[in-house]
Order: sequence, then C-alpha cells, then structure tokens
Amino acid sequence: MRRIAVLTSGGDAPGMNAAIRAVVRKGLNAGLCIIGVRRGYAGLVADDMVGLDAGSVADIIHRGGTVLRTARSQEFMTDDGFNKALAALSARNIDGLVVIGGDGSFRGAQKLYEHGVLTVGIPGTIDNDIPAFEETIGFDTAVNTAVQAIDRIRDTATSHERTFIIEVMGRGAGHIALEAGLAAGAESIIVPEERLEWQEVCDRIKRGHLRGKLHTIIVVCEGAGKGFEVGDFVAGCTGFDTRVTVLGHVQRGGTPTARDRVIASKLGALAVDLLVAGQGGVVVGIKNGQAISLPINEALRSVPSFDRDAYKLAAILAQ
Ligand code: ATP
Repeated sequence: MRRIAVLTSGGDAPGMNAAIRAVVRKGLNAGLCIIGVRRGYAGLVADDMVGLDAGSVADIIHRGGTVLRTARSQEFMTDDGFNKALAALSARNIDGLVVIGGDGSFRGAQKLYEHGVLTVGIPGTIDNDIPAFEETIGFDTAVNTAVQAIDRIRDTATSHERTFIIEVMGRGAGHIALEAGLAAGAESIIVPEERLEWQEVCDRIKRGHLRGKLHTIIVVCEGAGKGFEVGDFVAGCTGFDTRVTVLGHVQRGGTPTARDRVIASKLGALAVDLLVAGQGGVVVGIKNGQAISLPINEALRSVPSFDRDAYKLAAILAQ
C-alpha cells in the first residue's frame, strides 16, 4: 500500500473536511502518498485528482462543506464511466480509496472493491441513515443547527402567540426531526417512522391552548410531509395564527460541532489503518462509542432503526 485516494460523494455534511484531514495526516504519518479526488465519483471518471500534503488540509477542521467538492455522478453508474474510473485509479497506481458519503456512495465503493480496488467507506451524511452505526458525520451539527433555529423561532412564537410549523431535512429518515424536536421541546414531531394523524396534532394544540399555552412548535421531517401542507391543515383546523419555516440547506452548512470533528477524526484514521492492513470492501462507523468496521454489504443490509422511546418521551414532555 503506497498510494491512496480520498473523495467525498453524495450530499455534503459538516465534518467531511475533518475526515479528509484525518485521512491525509494519518496516511502521511503511515508513509503513504495521498491523492484527493475532486467532485466524488465524477472526478474519478474524469481523472480530476490532486496530490495532498499536510499543508493542503491545514485550517479546514472547523469548516463546513468539503474542500474536495462533492457530486452525484450518473456516468459512474454506466459501464463506460465505471471503466474510466478504474483506468484512472490504475494509471495513477492508487491502491486504496476512502469514500466519504452515504449509502449510495458505499454501493459505488462496493462495486470498485469487487473490481479489485481496496475501498473503505466513511459515513458522512446529515440524515444519520446508516443504521449499522449510531451516528454519521454531520448529524450532530445538523441537529444543533436546527435546534438553534427553533429556539429563535420559539422567541417570536411566544411574543405573537403563534403556532409554528418547522420543516427539517430527512428524505427517508426522521432522526434530525426527532432529536431537534426533543431538544427544542416541540409539541408534535411528524416523522416517516411513526404514524401521527395531523388531526391529533391539532387536538394537542387546542388542548395546550386551553391550559394557557401561548405558542406551539411542530417539527415536520421533509420525508413525512410538506411543512406548508401541514401549516394549511393546522391553520384550518385550529383557526390559530400559524406560520411555516422550512429550514432547508442551512442544516447542511456551518461549523461542525466538536462531536462531529471527533468522530470524523477517529473514522478517518481507522480507514487508513484498514487500508494499510490490506482490508477493503468495508465501512467504518461508531458503535457503542467505538470506531469499528463492517463489510459494506452487511452495513447496507442493516434494518433501519428509530428511537421510539425518545419519540414517545418527546410527546409526554411536551404535554
Ligand atoms: P446522501 O445520503 O447524502 O444522499 P449518498 O452517498 O447516498 O449520499 P447518492 O446520490 O445515493 O448519495 O450516491 C452518490 C453517488 O454514488 C451516485 O451519484 C453514484 O455515482 C454512486 N452510486 C450510487 N449508487 C450506486 C450503485 N448502486 N452502484 C454504483 N455507484 C453508485
């Protein structure tokens, strides 16, 4: 193992830069040559790569986004594009590849592994939708960003005695909605994993109003419904002054939390250790507080999980 490459793929997530830094610095420490691939698999297909030294990852640990840029590449999924990616890796004598991204990116890494490239995946996605592990890089930052925004909205909601519907990210998983909703004291949390009738949401608002609640916060995961549709329904049903805020991409940016930087640093270092040991076709992640590795296929097969106890608790505490 002499030359390894690193790329970021799929949606960006705060903490990806800390992971890139860890891969580069740990790799250099192990005597490897490190290549950065720009724009994910698109950069592999186009042979868009650059050598990385210790200085090239200086001053990025605290920055959101990814200095390598990221992309979704349809071309990589074609035979022609995939073969170009393999040829680019081979021409540059790259022995191993670290892929920082989500489950789609890991499917690409598995395919490369099946064609002889040692690959290690690192979960970098705000949605926390890799159930084999407890936390993905970027999730903690996204939750904190959402909570800060909801706290601000709560101030104005109280002053004007309004109901606020806040839509947060999560196409297929309600983890951000759950944690942000619990941390921000939301009265109702609408997620894809749990059935909650919008009528029940309205009934809770009315009950709260009867006992003197001045405002209501409802958190909606984008994968469970559109914030504006929920807002229209709630306004029609309760007659209360109702406003909608879609947090959108603010949740994807910003300074990564200390937690995300620590996870990213540990996982980046473990990815390099595995490649040095000649292992590939694996993904690293945090389980029971430890950085571990699993075969990619096993990680992808894991059944989606959801913290139902925390969900029930949020409803009890917001009564
Ligand atoms: P996020 O969770 O942020 O969406 P992701 O990694 O799941 O991240 P995708 O768009 O699903 O994002 O995948 C990123 C890229 O990985 C795709 O654009 C494609 O190039 C590659 N990829 C996805 N699925 C496969 C597959 N089955 N085989 C080969 N490559 C794939």
